[in-house]
Amino acid sequence: MRRKFVIALIKHETNTFSPLATPLAAFGHGEGPAFGDEARARFEGTNTPMAAYLDLARREHAEVVTPVAAEAWPSNKASRATFEAIVRPLEDAVRGGCDAVFLDLHGAMVIEDCDDAEGEIVQRLRRIAPQVPIAVTLDYHTNLSAALVDHATVITGYKTYPHVDMYEAGMLAGGILVGALDGAVEPVMAWGWKPLLASIMRHAPEDGPSGDILAFARRMEADGTVLAATLLPSFPHADTPYTGVSAVVVGDARHGGREHARAVCTHMLKLAWDRRDEYVFRAPPLAESVAHAKALGLANPGAPVLLIDHCDNCGSGGAQDVMAVVAEVLKQRLDGVAIAPIRDPEAVATMIDAGVGQRVRIALGGHTDMPSIGLAGEPLPVAGRVQAVTDGQFTVTGPMYTGVRMHLGRTAVLDAGSAQIVVTERPHEPFDLGVFTHAGIDPRRKRYVVLKSRIHYRAGFKPIAAHVVECAGVGVTNADLSVYPYRKLTRPIFPLDPM
Ligand SMILES: [Zn+2]
Repeated sequence: MRRKFVIALIKHETNTFSPLATPLAAFGHGEGPAFGDEARARFEGTNTPMAAYLDLARREHAEVVTPVAAEAWPSNKASRATFEAIVRPLEDAVRGGCDAVFLDLHGAMVIEDCDDAEGEIVQRLRRIAPQVPIAVTLDYHTNLSAALVDHATVITGYKTYPHVDMYEAGMLAGGILVGALDGAVEPVMAWGWKPLLASIMRHAPEDGPSGDILAFARRMEADGTVLAATLLPSFPHADTPYTGVSAVVVGDARHGGREHARAVCTHMLKLAWDRRDEYVFRAPPLAESVAHAKALGLANPGAPVLLIDHCDNCGSGGAQDVMAVVAEVLKQRLDGVAIAPIRDPEAVATMIDAGVGQRVRIALGGHTDMPSIGLAGEPLPVAGRVQAVTDGQFTVTGPMYTGVRMHLGRTAVLDAGSAQIVVTERPHEPFDLGVFTHAGIDPRRKRYVVLKSRIHYRAGFKPIAAHVVECAGVGVTNADLSVYPYRKLTRPIFPLDPM
């Protein structure tokens, strides 16, 4: 008998302090959500869990239904209506009957009336199909809830940041679920949570405790102690009762089962808690960081110095138009600079109207107020020549999201003399050189490269950099978590409360 698999992708990392709205059209990275065969076509052959599930289904000669694939850049809460437009097709597909469900979810999605969107999704499917096994992959930046664990059969997550192992996470979760269908394994899960708000700037394996915890998790998987062990360092910019560091471990009921899973989970979280101070990010003042970057660039002309504008990263809900770091770079007269991307549809329109080669004066960026943290937008007056205009499309060739088509909207390059600035209509976190090269700029030949990113830039840009300098501007992805007016967190929580 041929099995039938339902495979779907629903992803949104919700920054509840973000000034950006999340309409239905924001999904599909601005192209709108994909339904049915289009959902499959968009993700087949890409480095994503969804693609791994599709490959597994092919290997198993299973019939496949792909009701929906919907992923949006991080922003504030979606409405109930938007959420229903995405979730109902998935419910309908499961209602139509299937042998297993494979979900590519985020884990930090909040909607206007629910702090735990993923928990709700899995709970609703469980109600429709009480016996059908459900595999779930989660982003590294998950705030895990009991509801999600209770109603899923298998959960895995990424073990990298930048997330270059999304496909592997899908293969692991999907493989365990297929093993369960075949009767080869009997998955059981253990999970835990710590009152620990870990700054994202300290999440990467090479920066804080995560590396050692992940190494332990990999060892426990490799030697067969457990089937899968996942660390979820949380998404601290979502104000929910679930926000905090967690771990979820899948054991095999026939080989140590829940006991092994529980022991591995407890040890992972003990490592995180014992070293919690290493998850706190401490930044020097902006002017000092830019001066330091300038000196490094003057001393090493061979390869670029990266200046990381991490407080305004659209990859975590930032407006991507805060000009504080760019203003400081221009003020300190760094030369040979490439900057990407500033989101400013008005400036793009002005430059396109003027035409390539023409001089323009614009008030760049700063159009977005951030009332949640008490900041008003501040445009930066700049003058220069329109160097290029593009449709903002390129296919990723670097290691993260390899093969996925990016849509930045209409895009224009402003040559301001000392700096070339890529200005886009839509949000985009620069993790691939394509953000520059598709517009005719070779970042390898620049002395300084300013990126609106936190960690994901490392996928494409770290290999070309001589040095990296993190620059603390302002914005709703500030790594100093004391700037946010949290209301829903489970208190006390470290480091906001003494613990
Ligand atoms: Zn993430």
